[in-house]
Amino acid sequence: MTDILAAPATTVPQERKIVTAIPGPRSQELQRRRLEVVSDGVSSALPVFIERAHGAIVEDVDGNRFIDLGAGIGVTTIGHTVESVVAAATAQLQKVTHTLFTITPYEEYVRVAELLAQHTPGDFAKKTVLVNSGAEAVENAVKIARKHTRRPGVAVLEHAYHGRTNLTMAMNFKASPYSTGFGPFAGDVYRAPNSYPFHDGLDGQAAAQRTISYLEKTVGASDLACLVVEPIQGEGGFVVPADGYLPALQEWCTANGIVFVADEIQSGMARTGAYYASEHFGLVPDLVLSAKGIAAGLPLAAVTGRAEIMDSAQPGGLGGTFGGNPVAAAAAIAVFELIEREDLLGAGRRIEATLKPALEQLRAKYPVIADVRGIGAMLAIELIDPATGAPAADVVTDVAARAAQEGVLVLTAGTYGNVLRFLPSLAISDELLLDAIGVLDRALAAR
Ligand SMILES: *Cc1c(COP(=O)(O)O)cnc(C)c1O
Repeated sequence: MTDILAAPATTVPQERKIVTAIPGPRSQELQRRRLEVVSDGVSSALPVFIERAHGAIVEDVDGNRFIDLGAGIGVTTIGHTVESVVAAATAQLQKVTHTLFTITPYEEYVRVAELLAQHTPGDFAKKTVLVNSGAEAVENAVKIARKHTRRPGVAVLEHAYHGRTNLTMAMNFKASPYSTGFGPFAGDVYRAPNSYPFHDGLDGQAAAQRTISYLEKTVGASDLACLVVEPIQGEGGFVVPADGYLPALQEWCTANGIVFVADEIQSGMARTGAYYASEHFGLVPDLVLSAKGIAAGLPLAAVTGRAEIMDSAQPGGLGGTFGGNPVAAAAAIAVFELIEREDLLGAGRRIEATLKPALEQLRAKYPVIADVRGIGAMLAIELIDPATGAPAADVVTDVAARAAQEGVLVLTAGTYGNVLRFLPSLAISDELLLDAIGVLDRALAAR
């Protein structure tokens, strides 16, 4: 992976190094300033201010270097400050920064749409709209599905997360912190039971039957515009559905004229050893949503899908001032090129082959680790108190905090906060992964 770790001027050594208390003095000073002027509604998992980053390492303002197992929630999937992407974005910044595609278009937007048509599942004619954020992609998918079907209903699954805008708040499973006190919420959103093999023990067919019969009873297929699913649930705790579950849902959608939408905002863009996690389940969604990893940290998101569905929106009905910004689009084109050139789908499989057995070993050692799951570079452990069977959120919080002290950034997830999720950059070496696992091992042992 020569290109990924090629050294631009700001390179950061690929090693963990802690030189101050965490947070260090400069971070503490910045945190004081931040608390004066930044809304308390915006929280941070760790009040450590980052100055530079490269590959799989972030370096804070005090010179501490952390192994980044979160990649900004699966955004810097290709790695931080990858030279070819930085160069593409910089060159674009100097050529043209903004015109507004809906006033005068530019090639980069079209190229991203071509690449999405090529790499999303399905070999039918596809079209795309580019927007700024994941939530905006979800909102647009719902708009398009409603216009196409002329139906109001939106079906979502338990443990889903779709964003923080008004409509997407109504689509999330978890109220706190995402929607508590922020209502009233959008109507016509229906939440059905999902497939969560570790907890429900159902096979794919049984779980799909439960979801479908719930929706048929509580809404009725003929009132549903779309069913929105995350093929692997992200914030919900990297929940991988049972085999056959998603294809059965899709079959039901197709039979009933319901648009099947795959929210691949967290699971897509080479995160799981495939361009889109849908591929692992043999799914060919009508609409696919991309965001997080698509432009290596520049804001960009997309709805891509069957041309006849995408074209049901009237001209002028889709778009927005910044959607498909040329600089973000240039970065996305470079991301797609890098995935091909450096075989980053293979890198996702390598990370699974290294990390999953290491997590299984931790499970054998610590009974609090009840489940190891995930695909590619999207892996998680769920922690349950072995004595009571209760979600062990306190252990998860404590282990993440101890890991941070040692220079490992690891994110939590799950409706009950009892999941540690691993979504490192595909640039991470096996050596750094195993170093991070050693830190987690010590954090678990220290409890
Ligand atoms: C992050 C996320 C979103 C929301 O994306 P934003 O860019 O934060 O608006 C939606 N769906 C999934 C699955 C996500 O992980």
